[in-house]
Amino acid sequence: MNPDCPIHAWLNSLEQQCHRKVDADLNTLVERPYPFLCPQTVSHHIVRLSTHLGTLRCDVRRSVIVYSLYVRQLHALQESMIRETCARSCPRPPAGCCGADHHVILSLTDIVMARPSPAAMHLAHTITLLQHNEHAHALSSGRQLRQGFCGCLAVDGCTLRLFKSPRCIHYLCDGIEVQLGDAFKNPGPFLDAMRRANSLTITTEQDFMEPLIIEAAARLFL
Ligand code: SF4
Ligand code: SF4
Repeated sequence: MNPDCPIHAWLNSLEQQCHRKVDADLNTLVERPYPFLCPQTVSHHIVRLSTHLGTLRCDVRRSVIVYSLYVRQLHALQESMIRETCARSCPRPPAGCCGADHHVILSLTDIVMARPSPAAMHLAHTITLLQHNEHAHALSSGRQLRQGFCGCLAVDGCTLRLFKSPRCIHYLCDGIEVQLGDAFKNPGPFLDAMRRANSLTITTEQDFMEPLIIEAAARLFL
């Protein structure tokens, strides 16, 4: 666990609302596989979010924590495998694929057309509130927004690390897919799972994540 990590700092900044659910959340969530995170990082992550969200309904709180651990793993993966290519040879500078507000999880059109379940709406709403908090913390840490693109795009990249939208965490442009194809022997299962997740319309809680991505990524990258 790296105490200088910006994710760690943001989690430590969260207001601690209620400690009563921490043990139960830890017991339920800590044993799952998180191949891209060390056990101390996972425990700290669960404790901080559990205490921050301790007044929420149990199912929503745990769904939010599970989603953030999923995003954290994909974030770690993208930081180590993809970000350098984005910075060095993006075909769409200066904002790349961050030209519009892709942090929005459910737009009004999505809600009218797809009619997501109440659970999916509740999860999207809670994640959106946490996005605001994470974004504000990034700005208060001195990061500067890049004007005219996605509202979360700072000069040095996205202000969101744990609460990116499903649309953002599952997107790989053609250039990145080609790069992974050149660098690895069998990236197919990982790329297929990412494409599948990226094409999903969110109607249920399950549509926020594709667990096969983590399995395929672990086989490919670890
Ligand atoms: S994923 Fe592709 S389009 Fe997006 S920033 Fe990276 S290189 Fe650019
Ligand atoms: S939320 Fe972040 S990753 Fe997604 S489009 Fe905006 S700046 Fe890019």
